[in-house]
Amino acid sequence: MVRRVRCRVASVISHGEHVFTVDLAPENPVPAFKPGQFLHLALDEYDPSRHWPESRVFSIASSPRDTSRIRILYSVIGPYTRRMEQELRPGSAVWIKLPYGEFIIDGLQDVVLVAGGTGISAFTAYLEALKPDQSRRVSLVYGARRADLMIYRPLVADLMARVPNFSAVLFAEQASPGFATGAVPAPGCPEHRSGRISVTGFWPLLEEPLLRVYYLSGPPQMAAALSAELLGQGVPSASIRTDAWE
Ligand SMILES: Cc1cc2nc3c(=O)[nH]c(=O)nc-3n(C[C@H](O)[C@H](O)[C@H](O)COP(=O)(O)OP(=O)(O)OC[C@H]3O[C@@H](n4cnc5c(N)ncnc54)[C@H](O)[C@@H]3O)c2cc1C
Repeated sequence: MVRRVRCRVASVISHGEHVFTVDLAPENPVPAFKPGQFLHLALDEYDPSRHWPESRVFSIASSPRDTSRIRILYSVIGPYTRRMEQELRPGSAVWIKLPYGEFIIDGLQDVVLVAGGTGISAFTAYLEALKPDQSRRVSLVYGARRADLMIYRPLVADLMARVPNFSAVLFAEQASPGFATGAVPAPGCPEHRSGRISVTGFWPLLEEPLLRVYYLSGPPQMAAALSAELLGQGVPSASIRTDAWE
C-alpha cells in the first residue's frame, strides 16, 4: 500500500557532472517495497488536507531489507532536478510516497539487465542481494558517459568475484582508460567497450541470448533504441521489459 512519509536528508554525495546519491532517513516507517520499484520525491511540504505537491520519480536504489535509509541516485536534467541540486542538503526535509512500479525481476529465467547512467539504481538492490549459488545467469550491461561516472563499478567487481553466474560489460561513451573496444579484460574482470550501449556490442558475449529476458532502465531514447535493436535480433517483445523514464 502506498504511504507518504516525511524524511530528513541524511547525506548527499556528489559524483561530479551533476550526478548525486542521496540517502534519506524516514521519520516514520516506510511500507514494504521490492527491488526495481520507485518512489515520488517532493521538495515542498505535504499537507495531508491538500494535493500531493509537484514531485519526480526515482528508482529506489537501497535494499528493502534496511528501510531506515532510502537511497536514490539522480542526475540533473531539468528545472526540478536543478532545484534538488540546490536544495537537498543534510538535514533538509523532503516527502516521499512509495512504492510504485512493476519493474521487478522475477528471477525465473536468465536475465540481461541494461542500465544507462543513473538507470543502474533500478537494479542495485537486486544485484546486492545476489548470492554465490545464484542459479540463473545474470548479465549486467552498464553504460555511462565516462568510466568515473559508473558509480557502481565496485559492486560489479564484487559480483564478478563472488557470483559465478554473474557477468558484466561496461560501455563508456567518452574516452576512458581501458575502454578501447577490443581490449582484453583481465581474468575475472568485466568486458569494456567504448561508445554508447549497443546490442551488437554485447550480443556476442551472451550465452543463449534469445532465451534471456531483457530489463532496460534509463533515458527513454536509450530504451527505445535498444528495444528496437533487440527485436531486430529476434528477441520476442514479451522478453523485453522497460523502465523507460519520461
Ligand atoms: C520509472 C522512472 C524511474 C526513474 N528513476 C530515475 C532515477 O533513479 N534517477 C534519475 O535521475 N531519474 C529518474 N527518472 C527520471 C526523473 O523522474 C525525471 O523525469 C528526470 O530527472 C527529469 O528531470 P527534471 O524533472 O528536472 O526535468 P523537467 O524538465 O523538470 O521535467 C521532466 C519531465 O517531468 C514531467 N513533468 C514536468 N512538469 C511536471 C509536473 N509539474 N508534475 C509532474 N511531472 C512533471 C514531464 O514529463 C517532463 O518532461 C525516472 C523516471 C521514471 C519514469
